Amino acid sequence: MENKDGHIAVIGCKRCGKCNNVCSQGALYRVDGITRVDYSKCTLCMKCVKACPNKALVYIE
Ligand code: SF4
Ligand code: SF4
Repeated sequence: MENKDGHIAVIGCKRCGKCNNVCSQGALYRVDGITRVDYSKCTLCMKCVKACPNKALVYIE
């Protein structure tokens, strides 16, 4: 949980909602259907990156 160097970027979200419930930190939210990440809560666990079928959630170093 100490590695906070990178962040999760949202690129080309298709608004499918499949990542809605995967974040145990409550860091994912949506605005007009598009997913956003609350960086103050995200622990970079990568669960959402694996869950998005459209590869819209990307870890950026
Ligand atoms: S699973 Fe991917 S495409 Fe679907 S809402 Fe989440 S970020 Fe967007
Ligand atoms: S990487 Fe993990 S903690 Fe961060 S938004 Fe995705 S599921 Fe939540």
